[in-house]
Amino acid sequence: PEAITVQELAQRMAEKGADLVKELFNLGMMVTVNQTIDQDTAELLVEQFGHNIQRVSEADVDIDTTEDVDPEESLKARPPVVTIMGHVDHGKTSLLDALRGTDVTRGEAGGITQHIGAYQITTKDKQKITFLDTPGHEAFTEMRARGANVTDIVILVVAADDGLMPQTIEAINHTKAAGVPMIVAINKCDKPEAKPQKIRERLLEHEIVVEAMSGDVQDVEVSAKTKQGLDKLLEAINLQAELLELKANPDRDAEATVIEAKLDKGKGPLATVLVTRGTLRRGDIFVVGTESGRVRALHDDKGKQIKEAGPSMPVEVLGLGGVPNAGDQLSVVENEQRAREVSAYRTEKANEKRTTMAPASFENMFSALK
Ligand code: GDP
Ligand code: MG
Repeated sequence: PEAITVQELAQRMAEKGADLVKELFNLGMMVTVNQTIDQDTAELLVEQFGHNIQRVSEADVDIDTTEDVDPEESLKARPPVVTIMGHVDHGKTSLLDALRGTDVTRGEAGGITQHIGAYQITTKDKQKITFLDTPGHEAFTEMRARGANVTDIVILVVAADDGLMPQTIEAINHTKAAGVPMIVAINKCDKPEAKPQKIRERLLEHEIVVEAMSGDVQDVEVSAKTKQGLDKLLEAINLQAELLELKANPDRDAEATVIEAKLDKGKGPLATVLVTRGTLRRGDIFVVGTESGRVRALHDDKGKQIKEAGPSMPVEVLGLGGVPNAGDQLSVVENEQRAREVSAYRTEKANEKRTTMAPASFENMFSALK
């Protein structure tokens, strides 16, 4: 049978822990608020306090997304989510900028500055691709550590005039560990001193055999500066995406992953999320990490107000109760009551975890000081 601490039970009944302890004393039990009692005793207490007994398993309290699999026939193709990794100064930012410039929906005006940490483009052949702009490998590994595997494809940028550097190798290892397919973009090929073939050879040492070396990892020579090879890179992404058969059910309550979040002085807590399934709409009630909220507004990557966002779309959400963490899951729920329940449950769990983890982090603190 399940056990519960007196304190936890008191919280669930919205009663004082001390009152429960007193009642238990009357029942002949000497316990403190931090001690656990068995289910029968808990039920007896609940009755004594005139509450209804509601046996709830954890799955009924939190949102269990693993149980909730979308039927095959509900799945529709979704755009790939791409992360660009590579050594510093090899051209990640320049390449992201250049790729954003290929968006056919961007209009002639140009100069539309990016609004959030991710963007989506539409290619000439009407394919959509989402790029995550979270710089560096830390975001990638941190998100993975939190169980948020949002990246479908990694583009490894290597400068043809430089070679494989420490962060290139780090990126290779992260990508392998994540089991995500890779496309190698050999950048700066406009430079006279560029030696793309040398890069391909060096990649062999890390068991990356590119197509030009008769392997199966796509490699594309590009220049973020002259825009040479960008179309080929987009084609390579679309080809890889086709192989992956990326699909999601757009016709359900939305789930999304937080890419970044912050507190805005004027707008309050803001989160950029990537919709993983379903469609997120204005007015939706949701839970995200330990926070809850209601979608007050949605902004796309160009800062434009939109009414809804489907799978693989990055979107900025307004209307959060607090600032969530990168990697947190956002889930739309049926009503506010449910949202409050889940966020209270998660807050409680998070506090428990913090208490039990405290000694370990203390140790870490001291060893860090040595
Ligand atoms: P990041 O640190 O990987 O984001 O690299 P950046 O995009 O900031 O680029 C580093 C430097 O390389 C900048 O001075 C860019 O102008 C330059 N750069 C980036 N891509 C190219 C390219 O394709 N050709 C040339 N010649 N320079 C480039
Ligand atoms: Mg950069």
